[in-house]
Amino acid sequence: MKILIQNGSLVLPDGVKKGDVLIEGGKIAALLDSGSKVGDAEIVDAKGLLVSPGLIDLHSHLREPGFEYKETIATGTRAAAKGGFTSVCCMANTKPVNDNAAVTELIKLKAKREGVVRVYPIGAATKGLKGEELTEMGELQESGVVAVSDDGRSIVDANRMRLVLTYAAHFNLPVVTHPEDLNLTNNGAMNEGYWSTVLGLSGITRAAEETIIARDCHLAALTGARLHVAHVSTAGGADIVRLYKAKGAKITAETTPHYLYATDDWVDGYDPSTRVNPPLRTKDDVTALIAALKDGTIDCIATDHAPHHFDDKNLEYALASTGISGFETALGVCWTALVAPGHMTGEQLLSKMTSAPAELFSLPGGVIAEGGVADITIIDPSEEWVVDSSLFLSKGKNTPFNGKKLTGNVVRTFVGGERVYERGV
Ligand SMILES: [Zn+2]
Repeated sequence: MKILIQNGSLVLPDGVKKGDVLIEGGKIAALLDSGSKVGDAEIVDAKGLLVSPGLIDLHSHLREPGFEYKETIATGTRAAAKGGFTSVCCMANTKPVNDNAAVTELIKLKAKREGVVRVYPIGAATKGLKGEELTEMGELQESGVVAVSDDGRSIVDANRMRLVLTYAAHFNLPVVTHPEDLNLTNNGAMNEGYWSTVLGLSGITRAAEETIIARDCHLAALTGARLHVAHVSTAGGADIVRLYKAKGAKITAETTPHYLYATDDWVDGYDPSTRVNPPLRTKDDVTALIAALKDGTIDCIATDHAPHHFDDKNLEYALASTGISGFETALGVCWTALVAPGHMTGEQLLSKMTSAPAELFSLPGGVIAEGGVADITIIDPSEEWVVDSSLFLSKGKNTPFNGKKLTGNVVRTFVGGERVYERGV
């Protein structure tokens, strides 16, 4: 079947241009002038809309196997499609942990049978995420993992982290670090500062994040391995990444939509949906992270989609599980935080969610090009909408953005030429 996406503004590698996209056989068959006639094609009208490469998320938690009450591959990928994502990488902190080829194969099989977007598993760096014995990274890579990570926790032992990096470098696999010194976190509930004092909650110093970013950047420089720093949330964290990139270390970094928009004063009222790890920081951090995105220190935006069951969140603030159900608000939050106020163009933002992440983990897609996969997201950049988490396709309704008015929304998502999401349908 042929589909012709007509009269849109195409987000191409060399800029935004008016035009049509012809999809055939799961591929982008041709890029045509606006208003082209193609005999037997189904027409999708994209007038006034952006036709973007499908969004790519390097960091999510699909919770399956083991935590299906929080999310499944079926629900998580539908939520991803609604958020405009056509490819998502899923972390290894499932039950059992994805620390061997059998679990990777299971995730891939489930994704193929029950999922609607492309799913790329990330394997554990150490068995059982225990920070001790290394996983069989070669075997994991052969079974399809695109990176290794103990995300959810840091590898406490610095020498063990050095070994992880050295071993992963043999396979040219990126190692994703979850930068958190648990001794410094010290069971804190929110960012340490004015608001933790006012609210009487135990604080988490930004040094908990920054010391591990510094340690792991230094070890990446030492070993020559590829290090990807997950969810940078502080100005200081971005500064350390910038420093080590300048030294030539193979370091890349992500931040998330929530660290670009929400701040620790949102915790006022003790809403557990604002509890996230690392914690929401301050306006100065948001400003520094935006600057780091713009100057290339932070390469991409990932969601860290972390859906939870109502019972995991409906607790006293410090006891609530950490995390935000992020797929379905990512684009709107980023557009509202970055494009609407003029910090970045829409095209610059989309590169941080498409071509940049594709390149970091060598994934297909990320660009609209003739002959490439037809992974496409159609976006209304001017639509204003109010987040209603009860309408989420994700099982996780945990979001601090519920009730917030956002600008920029996803209209349609295609994966391999198949329509996997259409608004209002
Ligand atoms: Zn993490």
